[in-house]
Amino acid sequence: MKALLASGEIGIFDVINDGRESIQRMRVRELLDAAPGIGSRRTFTLMAKAGISETRRIGGLGSHQLQKLRSEMILNKVPVNPGTLIVMSGPGGVGKSTITSYLRDHPAIWVSVSVTTREPRDNEKDGRDYHFVTEEKFDQLIAQNALLEWAEFAGARYGTPREAVAEALNLGKHVLLEIEIAGARQIRKADPYALLVFVSPPSWEELVERLTSRGTDSPERRAARLALAEEEMACSGEFDEILVNHRVEEVAAALLSLASSRSKGLD
Ligand code: 5GP
Repeated sequence: MKALLASGEIGIFDVINDGRESIQRMRVRELLDAAPGIGSRRTFTLMAKAGISETRRIGGLGSHQLQKLRSEMILNKVPVNPGTLIVMSGPGGVGKSTITSYLRDHPAIWVSVSVTTREPRDNEKDGRDYHFVTEEKFDQLIAQNALLEWAEFAGARYGTPREAVAEALNLGKHVLLEIEIAGARQIRKADPYALLVFVSPPSWEELVERLTSRGTDSPERRAARLALAEEEMACSGEFDEILVNHRVEEVAAALLSLASSRSKGLD
């Protein structure tokens, strides 16, 4: 890890966001000393300014200290990679939410929690799956410019809270938005560096199978879902990357690798 850091292949926040126990036990001072271009005097100043004690280990850093460390590094012109804003879209039934759940615990990723006006489903928890809000509250959030994007979908409104996303990016995390296509287009306009990924099924037949095997839908509802999926599939060309969902683990790994290349300016 130290060798990769010294060669510039990975940055300080890649190390901090690495979940491995051995890394989390490393002292912050040791990490900063190993990074190129900081030096022991500057390490001392950065840590003092961020209020981090000499013996503090990476795993013991609070989010306030991390934010302070990051802004001090930027002030001192120490290169830090910002996280990448990742937008993931794709037709209903393609497996986006399984991919999101799989990535939720990854230390380098922060999964954005949208606000929505739709009713919670049985297995959904407020604050984890969505922030469930009233129509009035949603209007207020729009008026306060608190949403990075928002769109209407199947009779409800959905939006991405702006501030939480900025906060996570500032900590060097990649931020994952699982949103529909109108929202993806708004992000594209607002942030040309965002990474837009379209998740596609292995074949149209397989998507039809997944969408129609849910069982509880009426024939009309099923037809509407298929028509919408077809419309969504037709937009895949607007995205930076198309990932075919053969296996969740593969899509997740590809997303991480794309996000990390983008944050380093390699693509
Ligand atoms: P569901 O109601 O099934 O959870 O989501 C319906 C659709 O809304 C999905 O395509 C999902 O990706 C999208 N969605 C969820 N959150 C947001 C958001 O914050 N903004 C936008 N534009 N779409 C969202």
